[in-house]
Amino acid sequence: MAEKYFVECACGTQVRVALHEAGTDKACHSCHRSVRIPDTITLQESSGDPYPLIRPIEKINRTLQNKEPPFDGVCHHCDEVNAAYGTPVDFNVLVKREMDHDGGIRPSITGGIVLEIAAATEFWENHAFPLLLCTDCYHAFESDRNNSRFKKRIVAISVTILFIALLIFVFLMDPIFAAVLTFCSFIGLIIGALFKVSHQKVEPYVIKWLSEIRWFSEAIIMEDEYKLTIGPSEKLKKSKS
Ligand SMILES: [Zn+2]
Ligand SMILES: [Zn+2]
Repeated sequence: MAEKYFVECACGTQVRVALHEAGTDKACHSCHRSVRIPDTITLQESSGDPYPLIRPIEKINRTLQNKEPPFDGVCHHCDEVNAAYGTPVDFNVLVKREMDHDGGIRPSITGGIVLEIAAATEFWENHAFPLLLCTDCYHAFESDRNNSRFKKRIVAISVTILFIALLIFVFLMDPIFAAVLTFCSFIGLIIGALFKVSHQKVEPYVIKWLSEIRWFSEAIIMEDEYKLTIGPSEKLKKSKS
């Protein structure tokens, strides 16, 4: 859930404002008078944010380290019961990319030309934190995860069947062309597999569940490039208390 900020109007209405509106005026939706919105730090403090000055992802790190909410052991989804399951989240963000050279076509010393691929050094920052869920919410989460796997499998199977049908059809028309097509598809599959390893797409259900962690929505909006993966859920050990 994204952070909510409110400013009280003289008429008593709580006007919902966004962080980027800080320092401006906004019309109250009930009396239409204009309401002054304070600066970002005041806004964040008023929403109970203990760390208004640091990046959202740093807020997650800090609260995790200090075992403060949202990492005080309460379920991230219902916010009512203590969590019984933890799902590890790996959030890697690109901090910096330095271009070593741009690449392109260059003349070589021996005559002739060489094609150089652009080279860059990337600096990634890793953040690891758990999604904490109570037993009920964990089952809802796992059912979303299974549905997503099931859908992927159905799509893969349908595409394969369609492709085999196409190959058989082409083979009956022209066996040589069918062989070429098979070879090209094989190369395509290899490239596709390599591409998939480096560019894993985040599934919508993952974002939906992780957005239950305070500041996560803000954190993901702030990063231009990131890799997000979740691991298998584990039952949490009962803390001695
Ligand atoms: Zn008002
Ligand atoms: Zn719950």
